[in-house]
Amino acid sequence: MNKKNSAEIKRLLIEKTAELLNKTTNAQRNIDSDDTNVGDEIDIARQNSDKEIFFEITSSDKITLSAVNDALAKIEKGIYGTCECCGKAIPLERLKAIPWTRYCIKCQEEAENPKR
Ligand SMILES: [Zn+2]
Repeated sequence: MNKKNSAEIKRLLIEKTAELLNKTTNAQRNIDSDDTNVGDEIDIARQNSDKEIFFEITSSDKITLSAVNDALAKIEKGIYGTCECCGKAIPLERLKAIPWTRYCIKCQEEAENPKR
């Protein structure tokens, strides 16, 4: 990977970090304002289901966020762009589409659809 490409990937990763952190902060703010609004039982039930959805979103965001951080660390170490499973180079088009990906398309598909 040349310097221009790695600079571009780095920018995409930093943008993604900012996006994820923003989303998490905003979601947290909504929950906080809900808690001050104590209503009857129906309201409380609704608030609880809202919270469950919130935690589902953040746990997948957390996984993405840690993948983004790992990708940035790999760029720093100069080992970015290879599949963590088979060790082969991941095509640049894939890296630009999902810069935080850990695997090449082949390994990703195998992980998602294991052969029986
Ligand atoms: Zn692979």
